[in-house]
Amino acid sequence: ESVVNRIAAGEVIQRPVSAVKELVENSLDAHSTSINVVVKDGGLKLIQVSDDGHGIRYEDLPILCERHTTSKLSTYEDLQSIKSMGFRGEALASMTYVAHVTVTTITEGQLHGYRVSYRDGVMVEQPKACAAVKGTQIMIENLFYNMIARRKTLQNSSDDYSKIIDLLCRFSIHHINVSFSCRKHGAARADVHSVATSSRLDSIRSVYGVSVSRNLIKIEASDSDPSSSVFDMNGFISNSNYIAKKTTMVLFINDRLVECSALKRALEIVYAATLPKASKPFVYMSIVLPPEHIDVNVHPTKREVSLLNQEIIVDKIQMAVESKLRSSDE
Ligand code: ADP
Ligand code: MG
Repeated sequence: ESVVNRIAAGEVIQRPVSAVKELVENSLDAHSTSINVVVKDGGLKLIQVSDDGHGIRYEDLPILCERHTTSKLSTYEDLQSIKSMGFRGEALASMTYVAHVTVTTITEGQLHGYRVSYRDGVMVEQPKACAAVKGTQIMIENLFYNMIARRKTLQNSSDDYSKIIDLLCRFSIHHINVSFSCRKHGAARADVHSVATSSRLDSIRSVYGVSVSRNLIKIEASDSDPSSSVFDMNGFISNSNYIAKKTTMVLFINDRLVECSALKRALEIVYAATLPKASKPFVYMSIVLPPEHIDVNVHPTKREVSLLNQEIIVDKIQMAVESKLRSSDE
């Protein structure tokens, strides 16, 4: 049974960056305003995510890493996100099958926190009282220690750390009121350091640089006709002065970082068709729609989403973006 669990867990957590994404999303769900990530050896030795969120209650610690028990947790508030993305409380559980997981957490009004370690879905021993400031720190050590082949293929790839950096850049330009940092273990300087701001453009400038932020056009679209589609989109797309060989598409749907290749393709097409000297676009887009319009049958680890009325939504966004690009280019 343990082998089966491990294989399933290896599907949910495919690489270090998948673990970071799950941990940061948990920190965001806990209403954190500051999230700090430390990575050692591309995440294979250590991934540590510290936040200042609401913490995890003592009575929830024993079942924290059981699969599918999320809805039992008394701290669980975010029904909206489970509805919209179909997540099933598998992330932390999965990590315990393929790594050594240690949680340190303190809830509001407590004098001390607790530290507890997990293996294979269960607590290793009773939580120990410890000093803690605010929020939760989760350490994932020796990821894939029991999956030799996976560890080998990842060991030779230097790009896991850059995938983690890229991920945090994306989170930070969406959640602009949260500060993020990411550094290599022992490094004095952080490779991502975004402070909370109230301006999306400021955030994009600090994360992606002025070469991006000064070449952006605001985009918007919406539909509220239940017989066709219901959505609200806003964001930015690069203008004709922006130069890049590759599309950067930062897409959030209902505040979840996702991918939608049909939408990406539609934007690349309209971009190339509208701008005479078009390169590949930079796009930041946030779409809000009724949670039940997102296909929840997609596997929880797949970032690709499918939407109800997807073609209509993509068409409408494409048209809105086209008219913005045209008017900006006049
Ligand atoms: P899910 O996020 O789908 O519920 P996870 O396995 O990712 O499942 O997390 C399980 C639960 O652990 C969360 O629902 C939440 O209650 C709690 N949790 C995890 N990380 C944190 C955190 N950083 N702060 C507060 N609670 C957390
Ligand atoms: Mg989660």
